[in-house]
Amino acid sequence: MSYDVAVIGGGVSGLAAAYALQQRGHRVALLERQVRSGGNAISEPIGGFLMEHGPSSLNAGIADARTLAHALDLDSARCELGAGVRHRYLLRDQRLHRIRAHPLGFATASYLPALARLRMLGEFMVPAKRHAAEETVSEFWSRRFGGEFAGLVIDPLVGGLFAGMAEELSMPAVFPRLLEMERRYGSISRAVLAHRRSGGRMPGRRLYSWPGGMQTLPDALGAALGDAVKLGVAIRRIRATGAGFRIEYGAGSVLARCVVLATQPHAAAALLDGLDGAGAEAAASIDAPPLATVFLGYRRDQVAHPLDGLGYLTPASEGRQLTGALFASTMFPGRAPAGHVAFSAYLGGARAPQLAQAPGEDLIAMAKAEFSDLLGISGEPVVARVRQWPRGLPQYRLGHGEKVEALRAAERNRPGLFLTGNYLNGLSVASCIASASQAAERVDAFLRDSVAESSCPGYVTAANG
Ligand SMILES: Cc1cc2nc3c(=O)[nH]c(=O)nc-3n(C[C@H](O)[C@H](O)[C@H](O)COP(=O)(O)OP(=O)(O)OC[C@H]3O[C@@H](n4cnc5c(N)ncnc54)[C@H](O)[C@@H]3O)c2cc1C
Repeated sequence: MSYDVAVIGGGVSGLAAAYALQQRGHRVALLERQVRSGGNAISEPIGGFLMEHGPSSLNAGIADARTLAHALDLDSARCELGAGVRHRYLLRDQRLHRIRAHPLGFATASYLPALARLRMLGEFMVPAKRHAAEETVSEFWSRRFGGEFAGLVIDPLVGGLFAGMAEELSMPAVFPRLLEMERRYGSISRAVLAHRRSGGRMPGRRLYSWPGGMQTLPDALGAALGDAVKLGVAIRRIRATGAGFRIEYGAGSVLARCVVLATQPHAAAALLDGLDGAGAEAAASIDAPPLATVFLGYRRDQVAHPLDGLGYLTPASEGRQLTGALFASTMFPGRAPAGHVAFSAYLGGARAPQLAQAPGEDLIAMAKAEFSDLLGISGEPVVARVRQWPRGLPQYRLGHGEKVEALRAAERNRPGLFLTGNYLNGLSVASCIASASQAAERVDAFLRDSVAESSCPGYVTAANG
């Protein structure tokens, strides 16, 4: 048995990279340490409910993700956001405020104090940044839209989307397109209006999933890859050989011309050790604080709130334990049986990493207490389940760009080594797919360039002696 490429890690990133390479005719082995592939995309049916342990939707705005879903014949089965998703909710002064999903939604909602709304509208007049110094997400939004907007709108958004803190995250690493908009149009408001005039839709309206949940995507990738997927193979070490790499696991090793690391950053750091010290150090320094998902299902008549939105997010200043919650059964069909509703609540992340490690029953109690207070829920849930992620989402903190550059340098220094994953080019599933397709293109180019060398002795799977 010989391989052109060994992909290590069977989350969405690794599966998408392996699939793209297999489609190009390369002999691929995907090595995943767990007994299932899919990484953190886990959709669990529980008595008529469907719990998303990790991602709950995909953004249709990224072309590579659309192309992949189409190639896997998943288009016709997909489900769009439910018609009931008309608002977003934000917490202020301990009560939920309804915000319209529209660029001017914040300007017209009472959520922001009047002066903050005025300051926000003045963004048109704020000159574009001239200095090159890296800003945090919070600094950028405060500079352009005012401190209250940054604290009351961006802080909860960053807590919800990135499980992060706006004062820590790097603006160029997290929102590179917004910086580009500022450079191009001089103002974000102007850029948004230009985008809408040209027929663009708001990103929030472009979320979708499948009736069986997000796991549908990795399952379809796994099925397409067939025997190429090797489960329960935990890679311990990678050694460079003259002709490629020896990839070692407990019971043996695999030889391959190229290796694609598609693991979480801490696992990439361990595997880069011995291949590229600076790359290993850069990967090790990317923190992914613990995160917990609490799934609760209730009878509809237990819930007073209209649940007419995506869910709610909370600014850190409100001092709540949950960073927010999704109204899962409003978002997509099949998340709760008839007459019932389902919620996914999130705790931990950079805001309160220790909270995500509390005992499961405590996390359920926290979510129940907050829901009873904010959503008018009474009685016990029909279903309560917790997923704790000891390592949640990688944080793109200040200096992240240099870390990514060190990792790209590791690729250049070790021809045949490639990296992909959610700590490089975006956290979302769609960004992971885009990053994986780019990695696959680089691998493909490398293999084609080195075709003359492929007459070297075959790559074999060998038992460690
Ligand atoms: C709670 C939560 C909610 C989220 N919500 C959303 C959402 O709604 N929408 C969205 O787009 N994104 C969301 N995300 C983000 C998104 O799900 C992830 O960024 C993405 O799935 C990561 O995929 P990945 O393949 O890069 O990494 P992972 O899924 O972490 O996969 C890495 C894989 O590598 C394997 N591995 C590690 N070390 C080794 C080794 N030594 N040998 C072999 N295998 C190894 C692991 O077992 C794992 O399967 C969410 C994430 C979480 C945790």
